[in-house]
Parts: sequence; structure tokens; C-alpha cells
Amino acid sequence: MPLPSWVPIREDLRDSEPYGAPQIPDVINLNVNENPYGPSPEVAAGIADAVHAAATSLNRYPDREAVALREGLATYLGHGLTRDRVWAANGSNEVMLQILQAFGGPGRTALSFAPTYSMYPEYARDTHTRWVAGQREADFTVDVDRALALIEAEQPDVVLLTSPNNPTGTALPLDTVRAIATAAPGVVVVDEAYAEFRRSGTPSALDVLDEYPRLLVTRTMSKAFAFAGGRLGYVAADTAIIDALRIVRLPYHLSAVTQATALAALGHSAELLARVDELRTTRDELAAWLAARGFEVADSDANFVLFGRFADRHAIWQGLVDRGVLIRETGPRGWLRVSVGTPDDMRVFYDALLEVTR
Ligand code: PMP
Repeated sequence: MPLPSWVPIREDLRDSEPYGAPQIPDVINLNVNENPYGPSPEVAAGIADAVHAAATSLNRYPDREAVALREGLATYLGHGLTRDRVWAANGSNEVMLQILQAFGGPGRTALSFAPTYSMYPEYARDTHTRWVAGQREADFTVDVDRALALIEAEQPDVVLLTSPNNPTGTALPLDTVRAIATAAPGVVVVDEAYAEFRRSGTPSALDVLDEYPRLLVTRTMSKAFAFAGGRLGYVAADTAIIDALRIVRLPYHLSAVTQATALAALGHSAELLARVDELRTTRDELAAWLAARGFEVADSDANFVLFGRFADRHAIWQGLVDRGVLIRETGPRGWLRVSVGTPDDMRVFYDALLEVTR
């Protein structure tokens, strides 16, 4: 719905739609890459206790620097990281916006490789950063020579790499990260929202973080950690980069309740992450099931699989919704993305897909 003409919105935003996947009640949600397993009663009770404790001092502003939480996140990440090299915000969405606020802006350029996460161009738009999208190859990998040529031509202030990539599931080899981090004149962000789901042997950019002072690695508690509702994302980088992000953050951006719940969840990481191996196995089974039935399947290191191709993907998507399964109509034309659910969810999805494509 276009806004009425009397609304004095910025002209470049006038025809935009708010971001969002359809939310449909009473369906199996395989559309936003959540962890299908909620916290156990014990973990939920631990989080509730933390909220109760925080509630006793809600008259006070929270710790502006979220020191205890950043300490916990640094410990979780390992790699010798300390809290002054970690920053947290309300989802990695907010982390990314802060990165664009600090390192993008008018007269500056952000660059990524499509198809990739559909929010990046919006962060660029909202911060008046010029947006350049290079193209991934047919197999959704990033060709290093083409990437370096584009970086040379565009001189981007911010390069956004996504590994594993959404919506394709593709992880980047460390050589690609290294080559781009060496060549890029500005900051290079590796968005590792799905890192915990990567197949064994797939590296993390955290392994080379110390070698590149302008390299940032973002993570989230929304996916593997089963904490999407808690809204907690974070980034690891050089202390000076973290200090730059602190300049643009809103005062007290992380509520006392968010800090307390995230810290409590971190204290239960073992339980919350316990299903990750199962989800990785289900992901591999899902990819194999789709391939065995003649679908094209993108290699995935994440908790979702991109598959196709369909002459009319919307009809397939709608047919699945009609059968109670919500997946995502996203990615290149003809492809659909399905998140990994429980084995029961997957059985319903398999039956529905066979019916719809028969
Ligand atoms: N990065 C990628 C690649 C994502 O797919 C998502 C969520 N779908 C995010 C970042 C943002 O996640 P959150 O804000 O929940 O941390």
C-alpha cells in the first residue's frame, strides 16, 4: 500500500514496503530459519529467574556497555577474544545497521554479492550508503578474481560477505575471505549468522580475525542458539572497530531484560545448542531427499536448503501453504528456500511437496 501523499516521508523511501516474510497462523514454520526446538522447562525457568532479578532494578538504566554479556559472548566465541573485542545489539540486524552507520553513509559505498541477505540493501538505503551488488556464480560461490576486480573498480567502504550465505547456504573458503580482506580499502564484514550449522571442515572467519584489523565477524543467537525471540546479535573485531560502533549506538540500546535473558541463555549454551548436530543431519537428509527426487539443490552449510527450479514458484509456495507448510519464496527466480525443522515437520513438508509437484 503506497503511503498517502500528505505523509512527508523521504522521497527515496516513499515507494518502499516494510521488510517481512508472511506470518500465517497455524502452519509449520519453515520460512525464517529458526531453530524449531524451544528451550527446555529448566532453561526457560533459568531465563525467567534472570528476568525476575532484572525486574527489581528496572527503575535504573541498563549497563550501557553490556560488559557482562560481552564477556560471556567472548568466552563463547573462544579464539582468544576478550570483551573489548566483542559488541552486541538487538539482533545482528542492529549490529549491521550500526556498521553501516559508522562505516557507510553519504558518499560512501557498500558492496556485497547477490543473491544474498535481502536486508543489506535496506541498511544501505537507510544510511544513505551507495549500494553495489556483485554477482555470485551459477553455483552461488564468489569468484575471487571477479570479486577483486569489482572491489578495485568500486573502492567500497564496506564489503558484506555472508558465510554461510542466505538464501543459498553457501560457505566461503577462507582463501576468499583473505583475498578480499587484503584487497578491500574499507571494512570487510563476514556475516556468520548460520556459522554453527556449517559442515565439519568448513572454517570460520574468526580463524583469521587477528590478521586483518578491518575485518568484522558478525554472529547471532537467533539461529543455532534458539533465541530468535530474545533479539541478540554480536560482532567480533579489533577493539578500535568496536569503539567506532560505540559512537553510533543509541544510549542504553540493549535493555536490562535483553542483557539478562541473553546472559542466562549463554549460561545454558550446551542445552540450547544440543540440537544443532541433529539439525545438521536433518539438513543433509533434506538436501539428499530433494536431490533424489530430481530437484536442483544448492549445497548448504546452514539450517535451510535452497531448491528448485520451478516455472511458477509462487504456485508451489501457495500449494504448500494450503497444506499447512510455510516456506520462503526468496532467492533467484525459480528457487524456494525451506528451513530445517523437526523430523516430523520434514515429513509433513515432504508429503506436501510431493502432492504439490505431482
Ligand atoms: N544475517 C543473515 C544472513 C540472516 O539470515 C539474518 C536473519 N535471517 C540476520 C543476519 C539477522 O538475524 P538477527 O537480527 O535475528 O540476528
